[in-house]
Amino acid sequence: MSRRSPALITLFTLCALAAAAEGNPPITVRSWDKAPLGPDALRRAQAFVEHVFSRVGVALVWRWCGSEEGPECAAPVGPNDVRLRFVRRGEELAAETGDQAGGRALRATDGTAAGTIEVFEDRLQELNEDAIPLDLALGVVLAHELGHLFLPPGHSTLGLMKRLIAESDWTKAARGALRFTPDEYAVIRQRVQPRRVPLELCPPPAGLGAL
Ligand SMILES: [Zn+2]
Repeated sequence: MSRRSPALITLFTLCALAAAAEGNPPITVRSWDKAPLGPDALRRAQAFVEHVFSRVGVALVWRWCGSEEGPECAAPVGPNDVRLRFVRRGEELAAETGDQAGGRALRATDGTAAGTIEVFEDRLQELNEDAIPLDLALGVVLAHELGHLFLPPGHSTLGLMKRLIAESDWTKAARGALRFTPDEYAVIRQRVQPRRVPLELCPPPAGLGAL
């Protein structure tokens, strides 16, 4: 039996802590605004986002805080906390963000929270006039803007992070098949629960060989 160096023991401890953390911590979304759709449709929009993030075991916690500040709404913000705002754009913001944008994501710069996402009510309305159900439009916009907070800047040529969501994408979204790419999921998982130790440095589980 060999003596283990303090550095190796530290590595073992950190790996054990990482393994002990069951699943990933949730992303908590808080809003003090009134959502521009009814409770059933809102629930369906939330379910869409939850379905998207469930692929990497990341749960969503929703806090609809209204005008009252209960303990859940006053809780300290953490690195996975997101503020959600519903915004009806004026001319200036519409010109700045463009015709096709359903929202925008504003990253927190001090690291105390993930940031703020704004959903553009006027754009949801337009999508709805183009026969996209409001709950689906909101679900896709929420998932896309959350993606901006938990992924490197920019858009993808595939999936939820495309700059423009085409008609075929809405069809996919309606059957729950519009998601992040596998690479994006890997980044999201890492971002939500940063590991102190790269997995490849951790020893294999008991029974699969030993150090
Ligand atoms: Zn975008």
